[in-house]
Amino acid sequence: MSTVPSLVMNNGLQIPQIGFGVFLVPPEETQEAVTEALKTGYRLIDTAQGYRNEEGVGAAIAQSDVPLDELFITTKLTNSEQGYDNALTAFDGSMKKLGIEVLDLFLIHWPLPMFDQYVETWRALEKLLSEGRVRSIGVSNFEIPHLQRLMAETDVTPAINQVELHPQFPQEELREFHAEHGILTESWGPLGQGKGLLEDPSIVEVARRKDRTPAQVVLRWHIQVGCVVIPKSVRPERMRENFDIFDFELDDADMAEISKVRTGQRLGADPNVFAMR
Ligand code: NAD
Repeated sequence: MSTVPSLVMNNGLQIPQIGFGVFLVPPEETQEAVTEALKTGYRLIDTAQGYRNEEGVGAAIAQSDVPLDELFITTKLTNSEQGYDNALTAFDGSMKKLGIEVLDLFLIHWPLPMFDQYVETWRALEKLLSEGRVRSIGVSNFEIPHLQRLMAETDVTPAINQVELHPQFPQEELREFHAEHGILTESWGPLGQGKGLLEDPSIVEVARRKDRTPAQVVLRWHIQVGCVVIPKSVRPERMRENFDIFDFELDDADMAEISKVRTGQRLGADPNVFAMR
């Protein structure tokens, strides 16, 4: 843990800059994967109600030697449970599955602007925060207009916005907005979700220069642009590889080479139109 930097959120609390994401980790494999991640040194675990593996995360936490106060657990409110009352009930369900009393970070998973419920949903998260049941609250996949509306109509500015972000889709404008408003940026799909980023010649070239792997170069890029990053792998050797990024630095020439891979295209859903619930 000592080698992993932390970032300070707008509520004064710290978040480790690297975590372990469990999207698409099958429920029956989650306990083992999270146990391995904790052994590797990861302390932030990123799950979601929609991943259906919160119980596996809870089982790994319960059996681990790592004290709970050294862990940072994130889960996300699933789309079908937006709305004030639904959000509160769904939160209780998550806490039961995770087996903890206080959650570190609760996020609204998607804004679903077409259903217009994210403001009242946010008020439920504010209530959980005021009751001390969650230490920090944030959002995921929110675009600038969604953030502006939350800030105009509610009391608490999100601590984090977790969004698709990687060198192909670096989200410069959103990151700038976050920086202006004290919101931390957390990158999902940080390795490009196995869709070719790690084979890009520019990434391979920087990896060669640095005697590192493409995944390490890309994850180091996230660290240096100031994001929290949550790569996923169920393979222990890749978990270690992805975590081992704090003893080298990318210089300006490396960063310039990496910027060549920018396409400006998302790999995942567009939050303005994504309506699944
Ligand atoms: P990712 O970019 O982390 O890619 C994961 C894939 O990359 C793995 O399945 C594996 O195929 C490959 N990989 C991992 N380590 C590698 C290595 N060292 N070398 C080569 N290949 C490697 O994508 P992700 O899992 O979609 O995103 C990470 C986490 O972000 C998720 O687990 C989840 O917690 C979160 N997430 C959040 C949202 C959201 O809407 N908030 C959406 C997607 C993901």
